[in-house]
Amino acid sequence: MTIDIQMRAFSSPQRAAESRARFPRFGQDFTDLMVHIHHSDDRGWYRAEILPYGPLLLSPAAKALHYGLEIFEGHKAYRWPDGRVAMFRPDCNARRMNRSAHKMGLPQLPEPLHLAATERLVDAVRDWVPDMPGSSLYLRPTLLATEAALGITPATEHLFFVIAGPAGPYFAGGFASIAVNVERGLIRAAAGGVGDAKTGGNYAAGMAAKARAKAAGCDDVLFLDALQHTYLEELSGMNVFVVDDGRLLTPPLSGTILPGITRQSLIELAPDLGLDVEERPLAIDDLLARIRRGQVTEMMAVGTAAVVTPIGALHDGGERVVLGDGEPGPVTRRLYDTITGIQFGRLPDPYGWMRVVGPCGSVREAI
Ligand code: PMP
Repeated sequence: MTIDIQMRAFSSPQRAAESRARFPRFGQDFTDLMVHIHHSDDRGWYRAEILPYGPLLLSPAAKALHYGLEIFEGHKAYRWPDGRVAMFRPDCNARRMNRSAHKMGLPQLPEPLHLAATERLVDAVRDWVPDMPGSSLYLRPTLLATEAALGITPATEHLFFVIAGPAGPYFAGGFASIAVNVERGLIRAAAGGVGDAKTGGNYAAGMAAKARAKAAGCDDVLFLDALQHTYLEELSGMNVFVVDDGRLLTPPLSGTILPGITRQSLIELAPDLGLDVEERPLAIDDLLARIRRGQVTEMMAVGTAAVVTPIGALHDGGERVVLGDGEPGPVTRRLYDTITGIQFGRLPDPYGWMRVVGPCGSVREAI
């Protein structure tokens, strides 16, 4: 079976030029095109189109709106010094979206179709990919249950769409230390639930904690495990790493945290930088004690949007526990330089992570 991705609209060179003249913020501006692909149980995937960016026509009874039946992804395309545009590990996002779909009772989108649609969109809006330092084009593939029915059952109709927007640093300070609030009460996800799926409900569940962190003067939340309120999980939209005695430590994938692609990439490249990596449970009180004693001087938040962001301080109740001198440390800096070097085409890519975006010849994809 094949499906054609139809070009129903074209990007405006003038709007792209205007966009590239502005310093991009994160998640605020969007390109003038988007992808739509429809699905129904009867027809499977059908009508794949590149359309003008714009509001969706959605029934108020759509299951996505009532039961949170939706999943999404986030990844980026980067402008290289020679002008080419390349995406970072988009195959991993296509695969993770299907894992999320499986958990949420949503249909599987064939990975070649997901990749082709995304690549086709990036190619069509390539003039929007910013070239200011640290900026990129953020891609947001999303799958919604559009069936208009209120019965609590998996849906029979869905829409996959992809929007894209020029993005600057996720945190306003760029590569500067953030402060993180240790959340001892509210939890994000419990074992056996859907904490490892990229679904809106997980973010909704974390919003009150995010508000608390903000009220405490912090940039983000550090969630702990749901059962014992002891072990580090992740931040609201990032995984977490600790540098302890020259080793890189990160909580294991226990089913409650998102299997981050940045996390996985750092685990893969760290040994090549001479760093040992351990995925193991990290108890918060032990960690705080080691920070106070100066044994742990670096922590970082890692993800597509935040890349590698140094954590300068943890807030715990009323106490502020500073890591090292509060400034970005050398291991964090090295990891940041290495991964961004690969992403922005400044360093070789020995891992084969980057996918240069064609001028797409064929838009016919076998599925
Ligand atoms: N955890 C959560 C909850 C996230 O939303 C993200 C961002 N997708 C991450 C971790 C990091 O994942 P990735 O490196 O794939 O962006």
